[in-house]
Amino acid sequence: MTTSSNNMHINEFGLDHAHWRNWAGNQSCIRAARGAPTSEDELCSMVHDASNKGMNVRVAGSGHSFTAVALTNGLHLTLANMTGVRHIDHEKKRVTAYAGTTMNAFGKALKAAGLSMINQGDIDSQSIAGALTTGTHGTGMELGNLASSIVGLKLVQPNGSIINVDESTPDMLHAARVSMGVLGIASEITLQVTDAFNLHERIWREDFESLMERHDELAKKHRHFSFFYCPYEQSRHCYCLPDTAATSKDGKTTDVCEVKVMDITDRPPFESEFEKVAYSSDVYPIEYLPNFHELEYAIPVAHGKDAVRAVRKLMLEEFPQAIYPIEYRFTAGDGAWMSPFFEQDSVTVSVSGEPGTDYWAFLRAVDAILRMYGGRPHWGKMHFLTGDDVTAIYPRANDFRKIRRELDPEGIFLSEHLSPYFK
Ligand SMILES: Cc1cc2nc3c(=O)[nH]c(=O)nc-3n(C[C@H](O)[C@H](O)[C@H](O)COP(=O)(O)OP(=O)(O)OC[C@H]3O[C@@H](n4cnc5c(N)ncnc54)[C@H](O)[C@@H]3O)c2cc1C
Repeated sequence: MTTSSNNMHINEFGLDHAHWRNWAGNQSCIRAARGAPTSEDELCSMVHDASNKGMNVRVAGSGHSFTAVALTNGLHLTLANMTGVRHIDHEKKRVTAYAGTTMNAFGKALKAAGLSMINQGDIDSQSIAGALTTGTHGTGMELGNLASSIVGLKLVQPNGSIINVDESTPDMLHAARVSMGVLGIASEITLQVTDAFNLHERIWREDFESLMERHDELAKKHRHFSFFYCPYEQSRHCYCLPDTAATSKDGKTTDVCEVKVMDITDRPPFESEFEKVAYSSDVYPIEYLPNFHELEYAIPVAHGKDAVRAVRKLMLEEFPQAIYPIEYRFTAGDGAWMSPFFEQDSVTVSVSGEPGTDYWAFLRAVDAILRMYGGRPHWGKMHFLTGDDVTAIYPRANDFRKIRRELDPEGIFLSEHLSPYFK
């Protein structure tokens, strides 16, 4: 485990450490205390101490959620001093990492060990616990979200004890995989991984309707298929997408899709303008600037094309000022009770509002469309869920709440944002 010489502990109150804000800058909190434990023992005693004082306890990962999911006005923990891979089981291909490890560092450790994650999302700057616990996903019709690879985790409880969750406790595992920190603070996570592989990535530009015709075929044919729908020429700049004009058949610059496919390959690494082969974790991440506030819902895969067509129509006809791309991806269903992909093979449709503008009517209108298609929001991205919605769209919501109440009857791991859903 790495340690820092500049450790911050629970007794460090004070205004200089009081304010926290997320990466996008749309969520912030004034916290009573912050803690940066350097060991599991220290983490347990901080949680126990805070619990005795009746304080709320939340942990922030790398702050890459757009919702208030990581906020607290109580004890705010960072596990930035609890990082690194603790154990690799080469036979079973299982890797245990401290919960504060970044996805990037985790990928590097796997590469060195001749292993790969089964799938990854668009960035690798999240902490591993932060990414997994909100149901973060990549794309791939046959591939579950990242949390579906969790085979074990250790959760620190209000009294400072630790519970071990693994396949011998299947209900707890289904509850804990996507749990937003309300079942305890994860100190370690064990993930199922696979042998190292290289990915062959190809990108090109295509007309929206012609892509819709090839939607099913591309999704089946490629391990990973996704696209950004760009209503206007400037849309791709909002997400720093490369200029693929040279790979477009018709020279269109508006109402087009920036398409990406990735497949496992034996070819050695190479890179050209619209194609590359590299180790898996070196291919997945792309660069974003903190210039967008994103909403994303998972839709049953059968409704994917209708849903994205409806959102495109809304943007073109009613919200021409909504210039950010739609991102469209695939994720296989899984068994985690609070996963947006719970028992549902899905596509995800995301849109963004521009910071500093009044984008609420647009996001509300997208929410109304995606709800019609059975959408379940990403826990880390903007949404309009109520507690009743959670009960309606998550068949195991009450089982999840029951376990939460048993583990944390005082609700020290809840927050203003999460109480309406899980109390
Ligand atoms: C530029 C950008 C790109 C993104 N790309 C994708 C993508 O491709 N796919 C996708 O699905 N999502 C994506 N997201 C969303 C992002 O992956 C999630 O919001 C993720 O949860 C952020 O992880 P984090 O480490 O920043 O955690 P935070 O946002 O800081 O926290 C998220 C949650 O994790 C909890 N948490 C953190 N650590 C622990 C712990 N040790 N124990 C218990 N709970 C803990 C927090 O309390 C909070 O509830 C993206 C976000 C951004 C800003």
